[in-house]
Amino acid sequence: MEKRDFGNTGLRTSVLGFGGFHLLEIPLVEAEILLNRYLDAGGNYIETAAGYGNGESERKIGRAVSHRREEYILVTKTGERSKQGCLDSLNHSLENMKTDHVDVLLMHAVGSMAELDAILAPDGAVAGAEQAVQEGKVRFIGISMHGQPDVLVEALRRYPFRAVMSTINYYDRFNFPEIEETLIPLALEKNSAIILMKPVGDGLLYRSAEQAFRYAFSQPVSVVVAGINNRAMLEADLAFAESLVPMSESEKEQLYRDAPELGNYVCRQCGKCVPCPEGLDIPEIFKLEGYFDRQMADGTVTDTAEFALRERLRFWFGNRAMAMEKYGALAVKADRCTGCGECMSKCPYGIDIIRKMGIADYKLAAKSIY
Ligand code: SF4
Ligand code: SF4
Repeated sequence: MEKRDFGNTGLRTSVLGFGGFHLLEIPLVEAEILLNRYLDAGGNYIETAAGYGNGESERKIGRAVSHRREEYILVTKTGERSKQGCLDSLNHSLENMKTDHVDVLLMHAVGSMAELDAILAPDGAVAGAEQAVQEGKVRFIGISMHGQPDVLVEALRRYPFRAVMSTINYYDRFNFPEIEETLIPLALEKNSAIILMKPVGDGLLYRSAEQAFRYAFSQPVSVVVAGINNRAMLEADLAFAESLVPMSESEKEQLYRDAPELGNYVCRQCGKCVPCPEGLDIPEIFKLEGYFDRQMADGTVTDTAEFALRERLRFWFGNRAMAMEKYGALAVKADRCTGCGECMSKCPYGIDIIRKMGIADYKLAAKSIY
């Protein structure tokens, strides 16, 4: 399997990483089969978190593959924000995973500037991680967060994190365009390893898994971490990694045009519909809808299974409060749309902009049910 540099750490990671969250859903005997098969196939990156099942994912990894510890890069996360909390959490993690060190300790899901301040304070979690580095229990320190990346961008500016983990897939690129526009270039500039998570958008892109993985592997990232909980899924993901042919720009454009999950509802942020005579910033409003619920509620139910999946995922890491605050600050909001229709014929993706404006306003201005 292809190996890539893990930032400037000197480590080399297999392009497919094994995400440990879904080990919670299967018995130990199955976890042993999956993890060992992954290593046998050339994978070398196993990632989990102290918070996954209160250590259960870590314990399964420890019992399944600690005897092969020198064969893989081991990554865990701490959700603690204080120095002592981080040290205690790490010691539990090491015990759970039957090892004396992890290669990377990620600050888990740092979702606000206040949390970033807390972990970077003199008695914060990063100070604990630094002490652990001195003690040989951690090799490198990183940080993770889902969705809109403003905290991760600020984190990279304020501290030399050696790895940054973010959501990257062809669906959420339109909900959180700052990931590809700002976060990835900054991480590359800082020589920080980029860990890609959610290549199939929490399962949303399951119908297009091969395309989704090709898109993910084609990003300038060190490793694509996939949550795996069954043998068929593992074999499919391994096959995608083995047969990797990077996506060309024209193939990406075709995917953005044709992907069924994007359809004629998700705004591709192309800007071709502006200017609007009423001064509406159409792509900005739809981007805020992306922050709010990843543009998942479109007001139609054509497939009950798909509807249920979207309902489960849409607030998984929507940045609702941020979206509503930014929308509230817009000088011209969606309710100023007169329905003149001037924008509609300009949208290459056939989006019913007038209808979508109403839905976006309904969500972002907290009108009734939301
Ligand atoms: S339909 Fe609404 S959003 Fe489109 S151009 Fe007219 S006023 Fe602007
Ligand atoms: S033209 Fe369509 S896809 Fe492009 S910004 Fe406008 S609404 Fe979004």
